[in-house]
Amino acid sequence: MRLSPAVRVSTYFMPTMRDDPADAQIVSHRLMLRSGMIRQESAGIYSWLPLGFRVLKKIEQIVREEQDRIGAHEILMPTIQSADLWRKSGRYDDYGKEMLRITDRHERDMLFGPTNEEMITDIFAEHAKSYKNVPLMMYHIQWKFRDEVRPRFGVMRGREFLMKDAYSFDLDAEAGRHSYNKQFIAYLRTYSRMGLQAIPMAADTGPIGGDMSHEFIILADTGESEVFCDKSLLEHDLTETDVNLSDPAAVQALVDSVTAPYAATDEQHDTAAFEAEVPEDRRVTARGIEVGHIFFFADKYSKPLGASVTTSQGEQVDVQMGSYGVGVSRLAGGIIEACHDENGIVWPEAVAPFKVALINLRQGDEGTDGVCEDLYAKFQAAGVEVIYDDREERAGVKFSDMDLIGIPWQIIVGPKGVKGGFVEMKNRKTGEREELSAEAALAKLAA
Ligand code: ATP
Ligand code: MG
Repeated sequence: MRLSPAVRVSTYFMPTMRDDPADAQIVSHRLMLRSGMIRQESAGIYSWLPLGFRVLKKIEQIVREEQDRIGAHEILMPTIQSADLWRKSGRYDDYGKEMLRITDRHERDMLFGPTNEEMITDIFAEHAKSYKNVPLMMYHIQWKFRDEVRPRFGVMRGREFLMKDAYSFDLDAEAGRHSYNKQFIAYLRTYSRMGLQAIPMAADTGPIGGDMSHEFIILADTGESEVFCDKSLLEHDLTETDVNLSDPAAVQALVDSVTAPYAATDEQHDTAAFEAEVPEDRRVTARGIEVGHIFFFADKYSKPLGASVTTSQGEQVDVQMGSYGVGVSRLAGGIIEACHDENGIVWPEAVAPFKVALINLRQGDEGTDGVCEDLYAKFQAAGVEVIYDDREERAGVKFSDMDLIGIPWQIIVGPKGVKGGFVEMKNRKTGEREELSAEAALAKLAA
């Protein structure tokens, strides 16, 4: 999806707020409201305003590229589902009040999907009959609804939220493990591209057992889960994911290297093992935000929903499945929890709504207007996403707004610089400033 490459603040919809909204308890929620990214419509249900929408789309695109890279195919299933399939899997009754149930005009039971295991299994079952149809992975990025008891922290625990959910289909457990491991690698890459250190932690596998469930957790004081891990994981370079994806042993070795040090969420935590495996000064107990969860569940859905294939020997077997979720909308908040300072958001470049904020210190002045208009056109021509603060506002207002919305680079154009032939370039993260010619700034940022 192509986002508009350049906008002028004077004609943009960016309702920033100077003061903290009263009802927002955590920093990411406050900053999302203050920067005009989102607006609450009802408890746990948000509209995404222009800035927030851009961030959401960028997160989504990174998730998509990494799914495509491991050979998963994108589809789109509906938000509204029929209750019938859920009755077959037994989850219609189990799901309880978190499921939003709807009755249509013909008195048919429908629901707003909280997840899609049943539907995807049914899609597979209808069309895939042979071992030749597997391995297969499909995913979609779609809104989910869960009527959470306590929606809170803005988009972090919403009721309507955007999730990427992928599903794998394999002939046997060994092949299933390989699919799981490929997703594992895709997750490491996905989060590190967003500037996050997301640590995979052993998670509860439920009745199926085994070691094939991991939650991906970013550490933050406001996280809802208590987590325990070996400090080495905080130092581990999780961007090192170079591996031949069609070599199961190599992929397994990479997964093993990341999962070897102790890491577990509270549900799975074993104090004795933690203390035995990790020296005292390396034990980390912290709060974490779950930004993804992957799960291998064998034939839990394929059996009741009749998703079986014939093997090359003519035998009929239920396919082995896994499911893999990423909290796309939660990530927008999660990234802010990890990337902010006292002045506002500090977006990692990969998910920033724009790369450059162009700040005209004297709107209406022929000199500064001329330099800004010229740069604005040139940034666009060079494919650099730019937001141009062309409002007739005081410099202080422009500085604080652009700091608040967290654009990685600011180009500041004032009358003094116009006279001297320079602009000022500020790095939002480090605060470093540099004076250079407009051409040099362009060349640096277009690189
Ligand atoms: P949680 O324990 O946080 O409720 P979950 O185990 O119910 O999560 P999954 O069903 O595994 O979550 O969903 C996959 C991902 O979707 C989660 O890792 C999380 O990032 C995201 N997610 C789940 N529930 C919500 C929600 N209410 N609001 C926003 N994102 C959510
Ligand atoms: Mg949940």
